[in-house]
Amino acid sequence: AVAAHQLIKHFGELEVLKGVSLEVAEGTVTSIIGASGSGKSTLLRCMNLLERPDQGELTIADEAIRFTRNPEGDITGLDRQQLQRLRAKVTMVFQQFNLWPHLTVLGNVIEAPMRVKGLSRRRATALGEHYLERVGMADRRDAYPAFLSGGQQQRVAIARALAMEPRLLLFDEPTSALDPERVNEVLGVIRGLADEGRTMLLVTHEMHFAREVSDQLVYLDQGLIAASGTPEAVFEDPRCSQFVAPAA
Ligand code: ATP
Ligand code: MG
Repeated sequence: AVAAHQLIKHFGELEVLKGVSLEVAEGTVTSIIGASGSGKSTLLRCMNLLERPDQGELTIADEAIRFTRNPEGDITGLDRQQLQRLRAKVTMVFQQFNLWPHLTVLGNVIEAPMRVKGLSRRRATALGEHYLERVGMADRRDAYPAFLSGGQQQRVAIARALAMEPRLLLFDEPTSALDPERVNEVLGVIRGLADEGRTMLLVTHEMHFAREVSDQLVYLDQGLIAASGTPEAVFEDPRCSQFVAPAA
């Protein structure tokens, strides 16, 4: 499992996460919903250490990392190697795809397995081809990102995240930047990953989709978890019903 315990994160004076605890059990899907600015992206970025929490604890697989802030404001650090090793276990798919424009589709997918995990080009390529096949992009392996639609780019980004064979896959609004007619091809891939038992944590505004694929739903409100549980329970919780289904 991957778990956060009492995570606190500030940006300057602003306390963005005010003690957030959540656990994503192996083989389950959790979705985070909440208003703009409630801290959803910050929470995801803390979970894969793109941001360093000020306080709290993260458990990734069997490894626990404690964060404390000393009186001088320094944060107990991890060294580069530790960071890389942990980040390889929790990979992220971004709203804006973030593919490297100077690398081909395959180049994007094999870069981190080679650089971070030290795989040979040959092994990384075999792995990359497997995951490109999985997202239906194998025939475009030699294309550059600029020649792909948003939906295709996002599917490549998913293959890239999968190629690290992470313990947890993070998605931050993976369909928000897509043309409406491209949304379903990406949701379809994510649904397939859920069906095969991948452990995933996603931020989404696609409420129907979240309800369908999630084992657990978390409603984040101003840096705190206001409700969590099964999608049915959270959707019916009065604390978030206003957010989920605003009065027509
Ligand atoms: P949205 O739905 O718009 O994506 P969100 O729930 O993902 O919102 P965050 O991006 O986590 O929200 O931001 C939470 C708060 O933290 C916001 O007030 C934002 O302005 C602030 N914030 C986020 N990142 C930074 C940063 N790097 N520096 C300063 N403030 C930041
Ligand atoms: Mg966000």
